[in-house]
Amino acid sequence: MFSVPVLLYHHINYDNDVLSISPEVFEEHLKYLKQEGYVSIDDEELAQYMIEGKKDWQKAVVITFDDGYLDTWVWAYPLLKKYGFKALLFLVTWNVEEEESLGFNLDDVYAGKIQMDKLPKCEAQYAIIDGFKHKVESKLCWSEVRFMDKSGIIKVLPHSKMHQKVYASDKIVGYNRPREKLSYFGDVAGDKRYGTLDFNRKPEFAYNEFIPDKELNDMLHKHVLDNGYLDFFKKENYKTELDKIVENYRQEKGSIGIFETDEQRYIRVLRELKLTKGELETEIKRKTYSFAWPWGAYDEISIKAAKEAGFKYLFTTKVGANIIGSNVLEIKRFRIWKSDLSWFKTRLQMYSNPLLAKVYSYLKK
Ligand SMILES: [Zn+2]
Repeated sequence: MFSVPVLLYHHINYDNDVLSISPEVFEEHLKYLKQEGYVSIDDEELAQYMIEGKKDWQKAVVITFDDGYLDTWVWAYPLLKKYGFKALLFLVTWNVEEEESLGFNLDDVYAGKIQMDKLPKCEAQYAIIDGFKHKVESKLCWSEVRFMDKSGIIKVLPHSKMHQKVYASDKIVGYNRPREKLSYFGDVAGDKRYGTLDFNRKPEFAYNEFIPDKELNDMLHKHVLDNGYLDFFKKENYKTELDKIVENYRQEKGSIGIFETDEQRYIRVLRELKLTKGELETEIKRKTYSFAWPWGAYDEISIKAAKEAGFKYLFTTKVGANIIGSNVLEIKRFRIWKSDLSWFKTRLQMYSNPLLAKVYSYLKK
C-alpha cells in the first residue's frame, strides 16, 4: 500500500525564516518529484483514494500552500506550471487585496516581458506603529486568486477569514500596549485597545473564548487615555495602576468576565467557517469541500462545525500516513522547513511508506 505524502509549504521567497523556501530550492523539490515519477493530485482525488482505495496513483503527492501570500503567485504558480504539477492553496480570505489587475510573475520573465529584478518583492516588510515594528506581508489580489484557481494549477480553498486567536484563559498576563508584532497572523479576536486586559491566546477554532467584562476594559482604556495615552506605558509603575483598577473591580463584581460554553463556541466556529467558505466561493464561483485549520488546531467541536458548514475533507498539521481507510477529516501533512534536498528526499520517502509514516507520527507525539 502507498501513503500519499501531503506537503505543506508557506512562503516561496527569500526571507530568512524557517518557513520560507527559496524559489531555487522549491524548483529542486519539483525537479526531484518529477524525476521520481510522482504525480500531483488534488483534495478530492486524495479523498477518493482514502475512501475508495483507488489504485491509480502509485506515486502520488499533494502539494499544499497555507495562508496565501503574493509569492504563491509570483513564484509558486509559474514553477508548478513549468514542471506540470498542481497544488492546493488554503487562503486566509481577509488577507487579499481588492484590486483587479494581475501583477507580474515568473511567467513574464520566462516570456521575456520583464527582467527578473522587476518581479514584485515578496519578502516581509515592517511598518512602524506607535513606535514599534509590525510585520507586514505582501498580499495576493482577488484577480490573481481567481486566475490561479481557473488555471487548474492552483486550486484555492479556505483557511479561515482572519487566522486569529482568542483569549483562552482568565489569567491576566498583562495589558494591551504598544509593542512589536513580528508574526503576521495571530491577532486576537478580543478587545485590543491600549490598556485592556491581555490573556493567553490560542487558535480561534479549538478553544473556548474568555470574554472579559466590557465595563472593566472601558475603565482601563479610559485610565490610559486620561493619563498620557502612549506615554502612560513609559511609566515604571503603569502596571500597578491598572492592577489596582482590576482588583477593585474584581472585589466589587466577583469576576472579571466569562468563558463561552462549548455550545457557544460551536456556533461561533460554524459562523466563521461559513463566512470564509462563502466569501471564497463567491469570488471563485465554485463550491469548496476542503478546509485547513489555522495552526493545525482543532478538536471534536470544530470538526462537527466544519462538517455542518459543508466541508468534507479536513487538512491538519499532524504527520502520519494517508492510506486507504484513513480518516478524511484528519488528513495528515508535513511542513517543509528551510533545509537541504536530502532532508526533503528522506521526508518524502518516509511519508510515502505507510509503516514509516505511522511510526514517525508516534515518535512525534
Ligand atoms: Zn496558516
